[in-house]
Amino acid sequence: MIAASKAKVVPGKLLIDGKWSEGSGKTFDTFNPATGEVLTQVAEGGATGVDQAVAAARKAFDDVNGPWRKMSASERGKVLWRIADLIDKNIEELAELETLNNGKPIFESRYVDMPMVADVFRYFAGWATKIHGETVNSFSNAFTYTLREPVGVVGAIVAWNFPLLLASWKLGPALACGNTVILKPAEQTPLSALRFGELALEAGLPAGVLNIVTGGPETGAALVKHPGVDKIAFTGSTSVGKEIMRSSAETLKRVTLELGGKSPNIVFADSQMDSAVKGALNGIFYGKGEVCCAGSRLFIEKKAEDEFVTKLVESSKKIRLGDPLDPKTRLGAVVSEKQMQTVLGYIEAGKNEGAKLLAGGKRAQVNGDHGYFIEPTIFGCVNNDMKIAQEEIFGPVLATLTFDDIEQVAELANKNVYGLAAAVWTNDIKKAHQLSRRLKAGTVWINTYGVMDAALPFGGYKQSGFGRELGMHAIEHYTELKSVWMNL
Ligand code: NAD
Repeated sequence: MIAASKAKVVPGKLLIDGKWSEGSGKTFDTFNPATGEVLTQVAEGGATGVDQAVAAARKAFDDVNGPWRKMSASERGKVLWRIADLIDKNIEELAELETLNNGKPIFESRYVDMPMVADVFRYFAGWATKIHGETVNSFSNAFTYTLREPVGVVGAIVAWNFPLLLASWKLGPALACGNTVILKPAEQTPLSALRFGELALEAGLPAGVLNIVTGGPETGAALVKHPGVDKIAFTGSTSVGKEIMRSSAETLKRVTLELGGKSPNIVFADSQMDSAVKGALNGIFYGKGEVCCAGSRLFIEKKAEDEFVTKLVESSKKIRLGDPLDPKTRLGAVVSEKQMQTVLGYIEAGKNEGAKLLAGGKRAQVNGDHGYFIEPTIFGCVNNDMKIAQEEIFGPVLATLTFDDIEQVAELANKNVYGLAAAVWTNDIKKAHQLSRRLKAGTVWINTYGVMDAALPFGGYKQSGFGRELGMHAIEHYTELKSVWMNL
C-alpha cells in the first residue's frame, strides 16, 4: 500500500515575467511513479512559452534602470538567503512533492536533497558580494582594470533525478552573479520547481528574473536555439548534451554540461571491509541508482572477493524497498515505466552476456502491478567489456569486477567514456592518493562515497561533460570578463 500524500498538488503553469500563465493551453500529464497514477497536468511551454520567457528574462536583464540591475550585490545576496529560509520553512511540502513526482524515498528528499538546496542558496548568497574584477598594471599612461559581469540570460535545463537540487546548482550561481534565468525542469518531475517559483517570488526576486517553462525535449531545444539566450547550463544525458553542443554552436552560446557517468568504486583488500560494503551499497542503491555519480562499477581486489561479495549480497537483501513516502524506506520507485523497462533491459543484457546474477534481478511488487519498483540487483563475474560494465544503466544495478593491483585497476577504471566520479577504499594512504591522481574523474572519494558540499566543485572529465558546478569555480561560468583601458 502506498500512503496518501499531504502535499497539495495543483496543475502546473508557466512562470513568465513574475506571473503564472497557462501558455498555449496545451498540457501534459505528470505521474507518481510509486503508483503509476497521474498526479496532475502541467502546461507545455513549447517554442511560444520559450519566446515569452526569453522576452521577460531579456527585459529584466537589459533594463539598466530595472529593479534587478539596480539591486546592489548585497541585496541580491539577501534575496538568495531569503529563498534558502523559505526552502527550510516549506521543507516538508517540497520534500513530499519531490518524492511524489520522482519516487525517491522521503528520507532522501527530506534529509538530503532539500537541506542541500537551502545550503546551495546560502552558499551563493555569500558569493553575491564577492564577485569582482582587478586593477592591472599595464602601460604607464593607462589605467587598466577588469570587470566581472553577468553573462546575461541563462537557460537552465535539468534532469529528473534530483529535480530541485540540480536546478539550485544553476540558479544559485546564476542569480548571485546577476543573470536572469529560464528554468526548464524535466518533463517527468516539474512539481518541485513550480512550487519553488512561488517561493522565489515571495523572497523578493523581481519579475522576469526567474522564469519557469515546463515541457519536454522540444521546449528544451527551443531554449537552446533561441538567439536571446546567452548561456545554457545543462544537466542530463550525454547524448542530449552532444546535441545541445551542436545546436548551440549556431549562436555560439556559452555552454556547461553535466552529463552521464559510470563511476568506478574501487575496494582494496586492506580496506575497512564493513565500511566499504556500506559505501558500495550506498554508492549504487542511494537514489535508486538514478544518480549521475552512482558507483555502478565495483572493482574488488581479487583476494577479498569472496568475503566482500558475500557481505555485499547479504546486506543488499536487507535494504528496505517500498513506499517512497514511508520514512523507513531506503529504495523507492524508479522514475517512470520507460526507465524501469530500460533498467530491466540491462539486467537481461547482463544475463545474456554471461554475468552471474547474485541478487535481485526483477521488478518488485510493492503496490501490486502498479508502481515502478526494481529489486536491488548485483551481478558477479562481470567482464569490463560487457554492456553492464560500460554503459550507464541509471538504476539499482551493480556490476562487480575484480583486479590484482593498482596498475590494473587504474587501467580498467579509466577504460570508459565517462569520467564523473570514482572512489577508493583502502587503509594505505599512499596508495589512495596515488590512485586518486591516476583516475580520470571530476571527483574522487577516499573511504567514503557520494558526499557533496556546496563549496566543492562538481563536474566531469571526458564524456561526463565540462564546466564545474558548485564552489567558487561555478562563478566563472556565469560571468564574462571585460578589460577596460583608460588613457591617462
Ligand atoms: P535527458 O538528457 O533525456 O533530459 C534532460 C533534460 O534535457 C530534460 O529536461 C529534457 O526535457 C531536456 N532535453 C531532452 N532533449 C533535449 C534537447 N534536444 N534539447 C534540449 N533539451 C532537451 O536526461 P535524463 O534521462 O532526463 O537524465 C538522466 C541523465 O542525466 C543521466 O545520463 C545522468 O547521468 C545525467 N545526470 C548528470 C548529472 C551531473 O551532474 N553530471 C546529474 C544528474 C543527472
